[in-house]
Amino acid sequence: MSKRLLLVLSAPSGCGKTTIVNRVMKSLPGLVFSVSHTTRLPRPGEIDGVHYHFVAPGVFTQLRDGQPTGFLEWAEVHGNLYGTSVKEVQRHQRAGRDVMLDIDVQGAAQVRAHANPITIFIAPPSLTELERRLRGRGTESEATVAVRLANACKELACIPAYDYLIINDRLDEAVESLRSIIIAERSRQRRTPAGQAMHWGT
Ligand code: ADP
Ligand code: 5GP
Repeated sequence: MSKRLLLVLSAPSGCGKTTIVNRVMKSLPGLVFSVSHTTRLPRPGEIDGVHYHFVAPGVFTQLRDGQPTGFLEWAEVHGNLYGTSVKEVQRHQRAGRDVMLDIDVQGAAQVRAHANPITIFIAPPSLTELERRLRGRGTESEATVAVRLANACKELACIPAYDYLIINDRLDEAVESLRSIIIAERSRQRRTPAGQAMHWGT
Protein backbone atom coordinates (compact mmCIF):
# COMPACT_ATOMS: atom_id res chain seq x y z
CA MET A 1 0.00 0.00 0.00
CA SER A 2 1.27 3.50 -0.80
CA LYS A 3 2.34 5.84 2.00
CA ARG A 4 -0.54 7.94 3.32
CA LEU A 5 -0.60 11.68 2.67
CA LEU A 6 -0.26 14.31 5.38
CA LEU A 7 -2.00 17.43 4.04
CA VAL A 8 -1.60 20.78 5.77
CA LEU A 9 -4.18 23.43 4.95
CA SER A 10 -3.87 27.04 6.12
CA ALA A 11 -6.03 30.07 5.44
CA PRO A 12 -6.91 33.34 7.11
CA SER A 13 -9.99 32.96 9.31
CA GLY A 14 -13.22 33.54 7.37
CA CYS A 15 -11.66 32.74 4.00
CA GLY A 16 -13.90 29.71 3.41
CA LYS A 17 -11.58 26.85 4.37
CA THR A 18 -14.18 24.94 6.42
CA THR A 19 -16.76 25.28 3.63
CA ILE A 20 -14.29 23.96 1.03
CA VAL A 21 -12.97 21.13 3.23
CA ASN A 22 -16.48 19.88 4.09
CA ARG A 23 -17.38 19.65 0.40
CA VAL A 24 -14.12 17.91 -0.54
CA MET A 25 -14.38 15.39 2.32
CA LYS A 26 -17.85 14.32 1.12
CA SER A 27 -16.54 13.41 -2.31
CA LEU A 28 -13.14 11.87 -1.55
CA PRO A 29 -13.15 8.58 0.35
CA GLY A 30 -10.09 7.73 2.45
CA LEU A 31 -9.56 11.31 3.60
CA VAL A 32 -10.03 12.38 7.22
CA PHE A 33 -9.81 15.65 9.06
CA SER A 34 -7.73 15.67 12.24
CA VAL A 35 -9.73 17.21 15.09
CA SER A 36 -7.51 19.72 16.94
CA HIS A 37 -7.49 20.62 20.62
CA THR A 38 -8.24 24.24 21.47
CA THR A 39 -8.75 26.49 24.47
CA ARG A 40 -11.20 28.62 22.41
CA LEU A 41 -14.85 28.48 23.51
CA PRO A 42 -17.22 26.65 21.14
CA ARG A 43 -19.22 28.78 18.69
CA PRO A 44 -22.96 28.11 18.46
CA GLY A 45 -23.39 24.78 16.66
CA GLU A 46 -19.84 23.55 17.26
CA ILE A 47 -19.66 20.08 18.82
CA ASP A 48 -16.92 18.87 21.17
CA GLY A 49 -14.98 16.04 19.50
CA VAL A 50 -16.32 16.91 16.04
CA HIS A 51 -15.15 20.45 15.30
CA TYR A 52 -12.53 20.59 18.07
CA HIS A 53 -11.66 18.97 21.36
CA PHE A 54 -12.52 21.98 23.54
CA VAL A 55 -10.27 21.93 26.61
CA ALA A 56 -9.33 24.23 29.50
CA PRO A 57 -5.92 25.96 29.28
CA GLY A 58 -4.56 23.72 32.08
CA VAL A 59 -5.50 20.54 30.21
CA PHE A 60 -3.97 21.91 27.01
CA THR A 61 -0.62 22.66 28.62
CA GLN A 62 -0.60 19.26 30.36
CA LEU A 63 -1.06 17.53 26.99
CA ARG A 64 1.48 19.81 25.31
CA ASP A 65 4.18 19.31 27.93
CA GLY A 66 3.52 15.64 28.70
CA GLN A 67 5.94 12.83 27.91
CA PRO A 68 5.85 11.61 25.20
CA THR A 69 4.87 14.96 23.66
CA GLY A 70 1.15 15.02 22.99
CA PHE A 71 1.17 17.48 20.10
CA LEU A 72 2.69 17.23 16.62
CA GLU A 73 2.50 21.03 16.58
CA TRP A 74 0.80 23.74 18.58
CA ALA A 75 0.43 27.53 18.44
CA GLU A 76 -1.29 30.51 19.96
CA VAL A 77 -3.66 31.92 17.35
CA HIS A 78 -5.90 34.97 17.89
CA GLY A 79 -5.24 34.70 21.64
CA ASN A 80 -6.23 31.01 21.99
CA LEU A 81 -4.13 27.83 22.04
CA TYR A 82 -4.53 25.21 19.30
CA GLY A 83 -2.72 21.89 18.83
CA THR A 84 -2.70 18.70 16.75
CA SER A 85 -2.62 15.46 18.73
CA VAL A 86 0.13 13.03 17.64
CA LYS A 87 -2.07 10.08 18.66
CA GLU A 88 -4.98 11.23 16.52
CA VAL A 89 -2.81 11.61 13.38
CA GLN A 90 -1.11 8.23 13.96
CA ARG A 91 -4.44 6.47 14.50
CA HIS A 92 -5.75 7.68 11.13
CA GLN A 93 -2.52 6.90 9.31
CA ARG A 94 -2.42 3.36 10.72
CA ALA A 95 -5.97 2.91 9.46
CA GLY A 96 -4.67 3.77 5.98
CA ARG A 97 -6.28 7.18 5.65
CA ASP A 98 -4.91 10.43 4.24
CA VAL A 99 -4.97 13.02 7.01
CA MET A 100 -5.78 16.70 6.58
CA LEU A 101 -4.65 19.23 9.20
CA ASP A 102 -6.40 22.60 9.31
CA ILE A 103 -3.71 24.64 11.06
CA ASP A 104 -2.28 28.13 11.04
CA VAL A 105 1.01 29.26 9.46
CA GLN A 106 3.02 28.75 12.68
CA GLY A 107 1.77 25.16 12.99
CA ALA A 108 2.45 24.51 9.30
CA ALA A 109 6.09 25.60 9.75
CA GLN A 110 6.49 23.16 12.68
CA VAL A 111 5.04 20.22 10.71
CA ARG A 112 7.22 21.10 7.70
CA ALA A 113 10.30 20.98 9.96
CA HIS A 114 9.86 17.35 11.00
CA ALA A 115 7.51 15.68 8.53
CA ASN A 116 7.02 15.83 4.78
CA PRO A 117 3.56 17.33 4.44
CA ILE A 118 1.83 18.62 1.32
CA THR A 119 1.06 22.21 2.19
CA ILE A 120 -1.84 24.16 0.71
CA PHE A 121 -2.77 27.79 1.35
CA ILE A 122 -6.27 29.07 0.70
CA ALA A 123 -6.40 32.84 0.15
CA PRO A 124 -9.37 35.20 -0.24
CA PRO A 125 -9.69 37.16 -3.51
CA SER A 126 -9.14 40.38 -1.51
CA LEU A 127 -9.01 41.64 2.08
CA THR A 128 -12.31 43.48 1.56
CA GLU A 129 -14.01 40.22 0.60
CA LEU A 130 -12.39 38.46 3.57
CA GLU A 131 -13.87 41.07 5.92
CA ARG A 132 -17.29 40.69 4.27
CA ARG A 133 -17.23 36.89 4.73
CA LEU A 134 -15.98 37.10 8.31
CA ARG A 135 -18.78 39.50 9.26
CA GLY A 136 -21.32 37.61 7.12
CA ARG A 137 -20.64 34.40 9.05
CA GLY A 138 -21.95 36.21 12.13
CA THR A 139 -19.85 34.24 14.62
CA GLU A 140 -17.36 36.92 15.68
CA SER A 141 -17.58 40.04 17.83
CA GLU A 142 -16.22 43.33 16.45
CA ALA A 143 -13.06 42.84 18.53
CA THR A 144 -12.36 39.32 17.20
CA VAL A 145 -13.07 40.42 13.59
CA ALA A 146 -10.37 43.09 14.01
CA VAL A 147 -7.86 40.58 15.46
CA ARG A 148 -8.55 38.08 12.68
CA LEU A 149 -8.18 40.71 9.93
CA ALA A 150 -4.89 41.97 11.39
CA ASN A 151 -3.60 38.38 11.53
CA ALA A 152 -4.71 37.75 7.93
CA CYS A 153 -2.09 40.18 6.59
CA LYS A 154 0.70 38.36 8.45
CA GLU A 155 -0.60 34.97 7.27
CA LEU A 156 -0.77 36.05 3.61
CA ALA A 157 2.93 36.93 3.79
CA CYS A 158 3.66 33.20 4.37
CA ILE A 159 2.15 32.04 1.05
CA PRO A 160 5.55 31.48 -0.66
CA ALA A 161 6.37 28.72 1.87
CA TYR A 162 3.40 26.59 0.68
CA ASP A 163 3.38 23.96 -2.09
CA TYR A 164 -0.02 25.04 -3.47
CA LEU A 165 -2.11 28.22 -3.50
CA ILE A 166 -5.89 28.21 -4.00
CA ILE A 167 -7.71 31.53 -4.29
CA ASN A 168 -11.24 31.04 -3.00
CA ASP A 169 -13.13 33.39 -5.30
CA ARG A 170 -15.73 31.08 -6.86
CA LEU A 171 -16.46 28.35 -4.33
CA ASP A 172 -17.02 25.55 -6.90
CA GLU A 173 -13.63 26.22 -8.51
CA ALA A 174 -11.82 26.29 -5.16
CA VAL A 175 -13.42 22.95 -4.19
CA GLU A 176 -12.40 21.45 -7.52
CA SER A 177 -8.81 22.75 -7.10
CA LEU A 178 -8.43 21.12 -3.68
CA ARG A 179 -9.92 17.84 -4.94
CA SER A 180 -7.58 17.89 -7.94
CA ILE A 181 -4.50 18.53 -5.78
CA ILE A 182 -5.33 15.58 -3.51
CA ILE A 183 -6.11 13.26 -6.42
CA ALA A 184 -2.84 14.22 -8.16
CA GLU A 185 -0.79 13.83 -4.97
CA ARG A 186 -2.25 10.35 -4.45
CA SER A 187 -0.78 9.38 -7.84
CA ARG A 188 2.57 11.11 -7.39
CA GLN A 189 5.61 8.83 -7.53
CA ARG A 190 8.10 11.24 -5.99
CA ARG A 191 8.15 14.72 -4.48
CA THR A 192 10.14 17.25 -6.54
CA PRO A 193 12.18 20.12 -5.08
CA ALA A 194 10.00 23.16 -4.41
CA GLY A 195 9.15 25.12 -7.55
CA GLN A 196 8.74 28.86 -7.74
CA ALA A 197 5.95 30.09 -5.47
CA MET A 198 3.01 32.09 -6.81
CA HIS A 199 2.29 35.42 -5.18
CA TRP A 200 -1.10 36.39 -3.83
CA GLY A 201 -2.51 39.67 -5.06
CA THR A 202 -0.27 40.04 -8.12
P1 ADP B 1 -13.04 29.56 7.56
O1 ADP B 1 -13.25 28.11 7.88
O2 ADP B 1 -11.90 29.76 6.61
O3 ADP B 1 -12.92 30.43 8.79
P2 ADP B 1 -15.81 29.50 6.58
O4 ADP B 1 -15.80 28.24 5.77
O5 ADP B 1 -16.51 29.50 7.89
O6 ADP B 1 -14.33 30.09 6.75
O7 ADP B 1 -16.44 30.63 5.62
C1 ADP B 1 -16.67 31.96 6.06
C2 ADP B 1 -17.93 32.51 5.37
O8 ADP B 1 -17.64 32.73 3.99
C3 ADP B 1 -19.11 31.55 5.44
O9 ADP B 1 -20.27 32.29 5.69
C4 ADP B 1 -19.13 30.91 4.04
O10 ADP B 1 -20.42 30.50 3.67
C5 ADP B 1 -18.61 32.04 3.16
N1 ADP B 1 -17.89 31.59 1.94
C6 ADP B 1 -16.99 30.58 1.82
N2 ADP B 1 -16.51 30.51 0.56
C7 ADP B 1 -17.11 31.49 -0.15
C8 ADP B 1 -17.03 31.93 -1.53
N3 ADP B 1 -16.22 31.37 -2.42
N4 ADP B 1 -17.78 32.98 -1.88
C9 ADP B 1 -18.60 33.60 -0.98
N5 ADP B 1 -18.73 33.24 0.33
C10 ADP B 1 -17.99 32.20 0.75
P1 5GP C 1 -10.94 29.08 14.43
O1 5GP C 1 -10.88 29.60 15.83
O2 5GP C 1 -11.51 30.11 13.47
O3 5GP C 1 -11.60 27.74 14.32
O4 5GP C 1 -9.43 28.84 13.97
C1 5GP C 1 -8.52 29.89 14.07
C2 5GP C 1 -7.21 29.49 13.44
O5 5GP C 1 -6.61 28.43 14.20
C3 5GP C 1 -7.31 28.99 12.00
O6 5GP C 1 -6.27 29.63 11.27
C4 5GP C 1 -7.03 27.52 12.11
O7 5GP C 1 -6.39 27.00 10.96
C5 5GP C 1 -6.08 27.49 13.30
N1 5GP C 1 -6.02 26.17 13.91
C6 5GP C 1 -7.02 25.30 14.13
N2 5GP C 1 -6.56 24.17 14.70
C7 5GP C 1 -5.21 24.32 14.82
C8 5GP C 1 -4.16 23.49 15.33
O8 5GP C 1 -4.34 22.36 15.76
N3 5GP C 1 -2.90 24.02 15.30
C9 5GP C 1 -2.63 25.26 14.81
N4 5GP C 1 -1.36 25.66 14.80
N5 5GP C 1 -3.59 26.06 14.33
C10 5GP C 1 -4.87 25.60 14.34
